[in-house]
Amino acid sequence: MKVFSRLGLGLGLMGLMACGAPSDPQETDSRQSEAAVALPTSRLCSSVPCLPNLARAATVTVSSTTGSSPTQPDTRWAIDKALDGNRESVDGAFGWSSMSSGAESTSQWIRFDFGTQRSVNEVQLYARNDATFGTVLGDGFPRDFVIEVSADGATWTPVVTQVNQPTPTEQLQSFRFSTVQTRFLRIRATRLDSVSGSYYFQLAEVELYDNPGQLTYTFSDGEQAEITLDNGDASVSEDILVGEATELDGLFVEYQAYINQVGSAQVGSTDGVSASSAGINTHQRCKFWQVGCWKRKIIDSRWPNNTVYYEFHREVSDANRQAIRGFITDWNSRAPVQWVEDTSRFSRVMFKVKNLSNACGNSIVGRSGLPQKIRIDPDCVTQRTVQHEMGHAVGLIHEQQRCDRDTYVTGIGNDSNNRKECAAKYTTFGPYDYSSVMHYRSGTAVSPQPLGSVGTSGSPGGLLLGCYDRLGIHKLYGVAGGPGPTTTDAAVCNLSRNAAVTVSSTTGYSATQPDTRWTSNRAVDGLRDSNSTSYGWSSMGASSAATTQWIRFEFPFERRVSRVDLYPRNDATYGTVVGDGFPVNFSIEVSTDGANWTSVVTRTNHPRPGGVQTYEFTARPARFVRVVATNLRAVGGMYYVQLAELEVF
Ligand SMILES: [Zn+2]
Repeated sequence: MKVFSRLGLGLGLMGLMACGAPSDPQETDSRQSEAAVALPTSRLCSSVPCLPNLARAATVTVSSTTGSSPTQPDTRWAIDKALDGNRESVDGAFGWSSMSSGAESTSQWIRFDFGTQRSVNEVQLYARNDATFGTVLGDGFPRDFVIEVSADGATWTPVVTQVNQPTPTEQLQSFRFSTVQTRFLRIRATRLDSVSGSYYFQLAEVELYDNPGQLTYTFSDGEQAEITLDNGDASVSEDILVGEATELDGLFVEYQAYINQVGSAQVGSTDGVSASSAGINTHQRCKFWQVGCWKRKIIDSRWPNNTVYYEFHREVSDANRQAIRGFITDWNSRAPVQWVEDTSRFSRVMFKVKNLSNACGNSIVGRSGLPQKIRIDPDCVTQRTVQHEMGHAVGLIHEQQRCDRDTYVTGIGNDSNNRKECAAKYTTFGPYDYSSVMHYRSGTAVSPQPLGSVGTSGSPGGLLLGCYDRLGIHKLYGVAGGPGPTTTDAAVCNLSRNAAVTVSSTTGYSATQPDTRWTSNRAVDGLRDSNSTSYGWSSMGASSAATTQWIRFEFPFERRVSRVDLYPRNDATYGTVVGDGFPVNFSIEVSTDGANWTSVVTRTNHPRPGGVQTYEFTARPARFVRVVATNLRAVGGMYYVQLAELEVF
């Protein structure tokens, strides 16, 4: 049974993998920088205000309250009804209304005493919106008014002056001003609106805020995230969604500090991270969401229904979209997790092509539960980089981070992209895979060298999603079969199909005129049956059984090899029967250099097989594998090696 894997279920730590393929080209000349556009794309809060409403912690007095007399106020219109958190005016709790007046130019006011100095910069007035007495939206909203502040309640300084205020067409009317430190705040109307023939100051709700407006957080790569706080809700620019988890933590801390400073009683707990034995985690960002608003929690970093939704950033060129879509089409044709372009999904990946200073791309590992990004450097819009980042987004970490990596590579650093991950949450599937698309290639920052190889064995690191990458995804997403490769899984990762194949001879009219139905490529075409258009491989016919014939595979990189499957000829074209041409005496040999060979399987007097023959042996490092037959089986009076298919694992 093979070991390893490539990812962990439920990665609580979704560290950004700045996955550079360091040897990929990097331009160093300056490029035009991106336009600094910050579009709020994610609402962090819904109905629950993120910011504390200062009005609710103040002592509030009013100039008057409507009612049958000053001593018999209408309780449905008392000021507490404008501070009750209900922004609608409804019968029973309309809001606040001043006493009626026959004169338009009447002074009516609401006064707030915070008890101590507070920072204030926004007043939100919610207009009356009931239709109880034929009233319409905005009835009673003052025509002329001033918002004033005072240190002592006696001397007032205006911070907002409104004249000829039109009837509100939206319920919320927000008035911002430069932040002031004040103990008292007053909203004083001097010209009132007519309601059913009399003049009133009426509001459904009044709220006061110290609104930071926008917090900016700068990531280490210079990109900035902005939190916009508006109407008591927070929204973020898209760039909050990128960056290292630790950097996001910095953003949380900054926001938390702000909330703490304003003394909100609504600040939630910050213990957003918890993990169960099943490896299910609450995402770190819950710390942020719990600051008064966001309830969303990630309990599984895999994509539901094995489907990743994606979109392109608006600035991605048509050419780059076409290229990336092509790499996705290739991925979808080979991997169990599918990518679907769909901007309507909240949890989705946005592809962005932007200049990255020292990497070809980056992505967080797994699904964040929020819109998340894959960023690709303009010089790296390649199948390797795009599929590498896609691998991260579905949940794969770097191959060289495997706990067993020291057995296979040397010279690996211990930074966040290379550190060995041995925690239980990182489940490992499949053999160590030098040609994984998730393996860094040789380069300046990382120089993995396959152990046991000599000379230049080429750079590890696949150029596209490899068979064991796909197997890892297959396992990660819980496709039936349990941990560890199955026969079916292993067949997906047949190494012979990506190997260079050479043979001792090929049957045909002559050595230079081989029979193309029997050439070596027919034995690695995925067809395990021999048929008249693609039989498999056959050596040249010999008159003696004691003839040596061989077939040799060379892999792009050194691999761990532990099994060879030989599929016998099973056609009946010329009266042949199953097993004709299957070698009688043979050995299976491996080599790291193509010169020194080690025999791992030896068979003599092998009986005629009725089906596939599987030969398993202790896993060995191998750049080369060959099957050497020294005694052949007769086929129609001559001696051949004939096999429908050869597979190496
Ligand atoms: Zn990476």
